[in-house]
Amino acid sequence: MTDSVTRTLKLKVRGESYRWLQAAAVEVNQVFNYCNEISFATSTRTDRKRNWLSGFDLCNLTAGATEYLDHIGADTIQRVCTEYAQKRSAVKRLKLRWRVSRGARRSLGWVPFKAASLKRKGSALRFCGKSFRVFERERLEGLRWQQGCFAQDAVGDWWLCLPVELRIEESVAPKECVGIDLGIKAVAVTSDGERLNAGHFYRHAEARIAQLQRRGHRRQAKRLHRKVARQRRDACHKFSRSIVDCYQNIYVGDVSSPKLVRTRMAKSVLDAGWGQLRRMLQYQGEHAGRSVIIVDESYTTRACSSCGAPFGPSGLRLLVVRTWQCALCGDWHDRDVNAARNIVRFGSRCGTSVSGNELVQEQLRVEPDIFVSARDGRVSAYALA
Ligand SMILES: [Zn+2]
Repeated sequence: MTDSVTRTLKLKVRGESYRWLQAAAVEVNQVFNYCNEISFATSTRTDRKRNWLSGFDLCNLTAGATEYLDHIGADTIQRVCTEYAQKRSAVKRLKLRWRVSRGARRSLGWVPFKAASLKRKGSALRFCGKSFRVFERERLEGLRWQQGCFAQDAVGDWWLCLPVELRIEESVAPKECVGIDLGIKAVAVTSDGERLNAGHFYRHAEARIAQLQRRGHRRQAKRLHRKVARQRRDACHKFSRSIVDCYQNIYVGDVSSPKLVRTRMAKSVLDAGWGQLRRMLQYQGEHAGRSVIIVDESYTTRACSSCGAPFGPSGLRLLVVRTWQCALCGDWHDRDVNAARNIVRFGSRCGTSVSGNELVQEQLRVEPDIFVSARDGRVSAYALA
C-alpha cells in the first residue's frame, strides 16, 4: 500500500502572462510539427535508413534549437519531443495532426516543462526567466511537484497543471458499505436512499447558448459551456465527498454510457456525467483509504433486493415505473434504491479491484437468490456469482 497519491492541481494563471504564453505555445507548435514531419519522413523512407524515431532520437535532433526560439527552453523542447513520440506510438499512426497556431482551427495552447524548471520565487513562480502569478497560490504550499504544463482552455484562459504528491489521510468511515445506482432521473441513488438529482445544467443553458451562437458571440457561448461543466463537476464533487466521508466500501454500478448515448435520452445521459462521478469516487476514495468497486449492474433493477425474485421492471421501456411490489415476498421497492441495494449485495460477493488499495473487507452474508428461469417459469436457487 502506498502512503501518497498523485493528483493534478489546476491553477488559473493571471491574465498578465497570457501574451507570453501564447507566444511560447506557437514555438511549442513549431517544435511539435517539426517532430511530426521528421518522424514521418524517416519512417516512410524506402532505403535502409528507414527508422522509427524515439523520443530520445527526437531530442537529439532538436538539440540546440533554443538558439532560434525566444521563449521556450531546452527542457520544454525535450518534453515536446518525448510527448510526441509517446502519443504517436499510443495511436499507432505514422503521423499526428498538426498543431495549428493561428486561425479558427488553431490548437489550444500547450507549454509543457520539467519539474526543475518551475521554481518558487516569493509570491510568484519563475519559469523560463519570467515570473508567473497564479490564483490560489496557497494550494501549492509545501508540495513537491513533477513535470507539468501550462494549458489553455476553449475560452482562452491559461491554467497551470501540476501533478503533486499528496499524503493519504486514512480515516475510519462511520458506516460499512454502500451501493450506488447510476440513473437518469436521479444521477445517483445510494442504497440508503440518498440521491444526487440531475441538475439539467445543460438543458437550462441550452437556449441561451444557442442564442449567443446565432448572434456570433462565440466567446460568450464558450464561457457558458464552461460554466455548465463546472456546475456539473461541483455537484458531483459534493456528492462523492459526502459518500467517501461516510462509507468504507463503495460499490458503483457500471452503466455503459455509450450504449445509452445512442438513444433518445442522449442529452440527459451526457448531462448526468456518470463517468465523472465514478472517477471522483475512485480518486477521493483512494485518497481516504476506501475501497471503490465497480459492479456489473445487470439484473440489479429486476431482482428484488429482499428475496432475489426477478419480478421488477426492466428495460428502457419500463423506465416510468418508479416503485413496485415484489410478487414473491410482497415488499415495496423504490426502483433505484432497490437497484443500489442489489449492487451492494452483488459487489460484496464478487468485487473486482479497481483502485488497488482496498482494505480487507468482511464478506456480507447473503441468502441464496431465488431465480425464475425464463424458459419454464420454475423457481430455482441460482447463485449470481
Ligand atoms: Zn421479493
